[in-house]
Amino acid sequence: MPLHPIRARLAAAALLAAAGLVASGTTSAGAAPTAAAPDIPVASVKAHLARFQSIATANGGNRAHGRPGYKASLDYVKGKLDAAGFTTAVKQFTSGGATGYNLIADWPGGDTNQVVMAGAHLDSVTAGPGINDNGSGSAAVLETALAVSRAQLKPAKHLRFAWWGAEELGMVGSRNYVNSLATGDRSKISGYLNFDMIGSPNPGYFVYDDDPALEKVFKDYFTGLGIPTEIETEGDGRSDHAPFKSAGIPVGGLFSGADYKKTAAQAAAWGGTAGKPFDACYHSSCDKASNIDDTALDHNSDAIAHAVWELAAS
Ligand SMILES: [Zn+2]
Repeated sequence: MPLHPIRARLAAAALLAAAGLVASGTTSAGAAPTAAAPDIPVASVKAHLARFQSIATANGGNRAHGRPGYKASLDYVKGKLDAAGFTTAVKQFTSGGATGYNLIADWPGGDTNQVVMAGAHLDSVTAGPGINDNGSGSAAVLETALAVSRAQLKPAKHLRFAWWGAEELGMVGSRNYVNSLATGDRSKISGYLNFDMIGSPNPGYFVYDDDPALEKVFKDYFTGLGIPTEIETEGDGRSDHAPFKSAGIPVGGLFSGADYKKTAAQAAAWGGTAGKPFDACYHSSCDKASNIDDTALDHNSDAIAHAVWELAAS
């Protein structure tokens, strides 16, 4: 593993300061210079997935809207964020006669007229624990937020993270959130990034193509890893980016595939098994902790952090 980028930068800054070339700790006005995004430890992402699994196991096998496993998942994520210094808010809504909850976490600082958002749906279907769909996106967004705190990031733009309820009932939570925003607040969101299934066991590497600038951030990242990507089509309009896009907010995101089958060409590019679904356990009881490709989860988690760091810096 190469030297951690932040450590490399700090070491270089210390050398310059020691040489009297620059005063240490000072910057021009405004935000501090932003180092490259840190590596997101996949073991930490997987620890969140293990917790989601144990929450489901203790609550009838799922983490679905209106079921106790959903609220327990939300309480777990909120506890981590509160301890890390985020300003959190739980927003309630009603769907199908049950109370739903979105969790919104703001990182203090940055220009609140330019908000970069990243989010994931936290609910599962009732059929299973929902570890790939969508513990994976939920855990990776959580660990990215915790990395922001560890770095004590001082981004130019304001950072907001979200975990949505009742996505599986038709993006109910995210639509409720977007509808609750005043027109002026919608226009302050410069981009929304969505992560719904990013650890599929027979993974593909799909990038949302809704906004060229946001698409480029992710495509360039994977190009740097030597991993080819395809544009995301399987989930078009089927996840929480849809209400944002409908409101005119630029959206982007990543996806590793659901029940579509991997083609021979895709297996040649990405490995895995041609003719089999990207996630054979999609919406099933077997979408459990073992239903994750660690490499895909690792790359996609790092890509989220890269995008958050880059988009919030400028
Ligand atoms: Zn999903």
